[in-house]
Amino acid sequence: MNRVLVTGGAGFLGSHLCAELMKNPENHVTALDNLSTGKKENLAPLLGSSRFRFIEGDVRRPFDVPADQIYHAAAPASPKAYQLSPTATMQTCVMGMVNALELAKKYNAKIVQFSTSEVYGNPLVHPQKEEYFGNVNPIGIRSCYDEGKRCAESLCFDYHREFGVRVKIVRIFNTYGPRMDVADGRVVSNFIVQALRGEPITIHGDGSQTRSFCYVDDMAQGLLRMMNGTDEDFHGPVNLGNPEEIQVKALARKILEMTDSSSRMVYLPLPGDDPVQRRPDISLAMEKLGWKPEISLDAGLEKTIAYFRGMMKP
Ligand code: UDP
Repeated sequence: MNRVLVTGGAGFLGSHLCAELMKNPENHVTALDNLSTGKKENLAPLLGSSRFRFIEGDVRRPFDVPADQIYHAAAPASPKAYQLSPTATMQTCVMGMVNALELAKKYNAKIVQFSTSEVYGNPLVHPQKEEYFGNVNPIGIRSCYDEGKRCAESLCFDYHREFGVRVKIVRIFNTYGPRMDVADGRVVSNFIVQALRGEPITIHGDGSQTRSFCYVDDMAQGLLRMMNGTDEDFHGPVNLGNPEEIQVKALARKILEMTDSSSRMVYLPLPGDDPVQRRPDISLAMEKLGWKPEISLDAGLEKTIAYFRGMMKP
């Protein structure tokens, strides 16, 4: 039996990961979530299983769930969500990390920290490799998340060096797929929902900024590989993402075409510190984990659009 804790387990990525973990009959999975951005419905298919447990709780306070493996995902991840209460976001990133690491220390559990491409800030190096230290504004509107996640990474390494905690850090690049909240605010779900409703597609800035989008099933596989890799000395950080890069305005055009929508595009001001470009260099993940994404942007968007069509039926 393998006791697995997923903090943030009711969220978009956390719930996909829980579903994947439950496919292995050895796993007994606990999802901990304060339901601030996650939803219990995301876990509905798993709730009946005797190997699955949901606990409503906030990682800012200490928690005690016996575990052999901890996936620490808890934190709001969409800029819209994490900027709603920036102080709560910073506390979640930092205090949540301390509490998760204390738990890993207590049970000698392996812990995978869900870090982010946001640690690179507005990157001056392209594509981003793990050795790049980033270009982050410490006092901007994204700092609560960016600096919170950077602090979490240093906590991981300090807990490892000082107490021998078995830490593993993944830097997750933009991820999308079914079960994103309709009001999540991130670009893929926003554009799909707007296109399906016939509402204007809201492009920030001139839409020339780039992102690289990874389908959620690919991401879940990468996370499992990081946890279960045999090299105990590999702590990361390692980039997980899809290197297929696209401009935001090209993404809008693609989604309009795929949804057969007549929505028009409107241009809104670019939010502060919005990164100009982002694309992971995934050679380390390929080398150390034997992982790379398998699902193209077109194929992933098809599945995601189908999901939102189903969701939005009257
Ligand atoms: N964006 C946009 N319209 C939207 C939502 C987002 O143009 O309705 C832009 C956003 O400004 C950024 C990119 O799309 O340049 C990706 O934004 P998202 O919030 O998905 O995540 P980020 O990568 O910025 O964390």
